[in-house]
Amino acid sequence: MPRIAIIGGGISGLSAAFTLEEKRQSGAQSDTKIEYVLFESAPRLGGVMVTDHADGCLIEAGPDSFLTEKPWAADLCRKIGLGDQLIGSNDADRKTYIVAHKNGRDRLVVMPDGLMFMVPTKILPTVLSPLFSLRTKMRMAAEWFHPPHKAEADETVAQMVERHYGSEMVDLLADPLLSGVYGGEASDLSVRAVLPRFADMESKHGSLGRAMLAARKKMASAAKAPPRPLFTSLKEGMQQMVDALIARLDRDALKTSSLVQSVIRQDNGWTVCAGYKTDHFDAVILATPASAAADVVNSTDGKLATLLREIRYSSSVTVTLGYDEKVRQSLPPGFGFLVPRSAGRRMLAATFVHNKFPHRAPANRAIVRCFLGGARDEAILLQNDQQILDTLRHELRQIVNIGAEPLFARVFKWKSAMAQYSVGHLERLQQIESRRQQLPGLALAGNGYSGIGVPDCVRSGTEAAGKILAEMGMWSAA
Ligand SMILES: Cc1cc2nc3c(=O)[nH]c(=O)nc-3n(C[C@H](O)[C@H](O)[C@H](O)COP(=O)(O)OP(=O)(O)OC[C@H]3O[C@@H](n4cnc5c(N)ncnc54)[C@H](O)[C@@H]3O)c2cc1C
Repeated sequence: MPRIAIIGGGISGLSAAFTLEEKRQSGAQSDTKIEYVLFESAPRLGGVMVTDHADGCLIEAGPDSFLTEKPWAADLCRKIGLGDQLIGSNDADRKTYIVAHKNGRDRLVVMPDGLMFMVPTKILPTVLSPLFSLRTKMRMAAEWFHPPHKAEADETVAQMVERHYGSEMVDLLADPLLSGVYGGEASDLSVRAVLPRFADMESKHGSLGRAMLAARKKMASAAKAPPRPLFTSLKEGMQQMVDALIARLDRDALKTSSLVQSVIRQDNGWTVCAGYKTDHFDAVILATPASAAADVVNSTDGKLATLLREIRYSSSVTVTLGYDEKVRQSLPPGFGFLVPRSAGRRMLAATFVHNKFPHRAPANRAIVRCFLGGARDEAILLQNDQQILDTLRHELRQIVNIGAEPLFARVFKWKSAMAQYSVGHLERLQQIESRRQQLPGLALAGNGYSGIGVPDCVRSGTEAAGKILAEMGMWSAA
């Protein structure tokens, strides 16, 4: 009976395991039986997906939701019986602010209507917004006439945005938006890997504004259904997805507190070394961060390990603070704010959770979830919880005038959790793939490769398991 090892029990590894479990169950009635074992170094499964509770409030330590536009996570939720637990963000209250730092003071300025990611598609709200200088507004107008441009090579997001709108746009929008998603910097991340649509639009249309507007009109005329919420989550938090997956897997196959040191290719399969134990498998799915996959595969293929190590990771810290009704009343409407680097703050962004997902806080509580760290502030990990809280209290007072003590505070540190798709990422992936193809029975999954969000991780785990089954002649796309 073929045996498959999965290394890493975050959402990528659990999604791979679920695909194999479906195959195992269907095989139980036929003669195509399989067995899988999932190794997870931590005592719990789920990786960065952790939900906690305090004072009647729901707290997300890692992801709080996922993009509705990407279907794979919601599809998996429906498959595992959570269809009726899916909830949308409260988009009636969707408004995001940028912290503008002028004359020594911080001020929240609402992002103008019509911005798609960072591309303005409505003239009036952008022209009237106090966010941008006159110079940037003039660049935005001129951008409408940008000629088509096909970059010879990959470039950074900052380079592309600057070419179209100037450096203020990089500081005020590109950087804060990317640090929210990737914990990375516009001056480092690859346009082709992070914003492939932008590269495509630029080569076809020239102007990103015109291209976005055309795409929006096309979508609006094609869509008959009412608009869907931007973000999807689960009533009881993201942990619900982890728990439902675990409940559907073979309990005996889940090995927590099992750090895998190496996977070694042999003539007839793979030896997995975890602690003092070794076990033999026909195939291995590495569903860890790429840096951990590099360590594990090093003794089998040093070159593959080197390529995997080139995918760098940044760290992040999330801090959830609970406040009383008075603070809730004093906070502005909307989902929260982003902090540009020019504001000189340590905080990267904050979400007003009670507005984004109202049922996560009782009516007399406010939840403010703050993000710190990212590629430019790894040093935050060296601070203890109290030091981080002191920084946040000071910055929240400056930005949104919260002087009150929080009723509760939870600090979560995630070391090297956010993959950085730097310039050349797509070429690196091709090189990784060509080495992987030399190693039959090896598949890679996780946020280091083709998408960092939860839906992409679900897709990567599912596809990795499908690839292994296909190699074994047990899978057809039909
Ligand atoms: C703070 C934060 C907020 C985020 N917010 C969002 C969001 O709102 N929406 C969204 O879509 N995405 C968000 N993301 C991104 C998304 O959550 C992650 O990319 C995704 O959950 C990663 O899943 P994974 O399984 O690939 O990796 P992980 O969750 O990192 O899991 C990998 C697992 O591998 C284990 N492991 C590592 N090495 C070994 C080894 N040698 N042996 C055995 N086990 C090993 C680790 O212990 C870990 O459990 C966020 C990420 C973070 C950190």
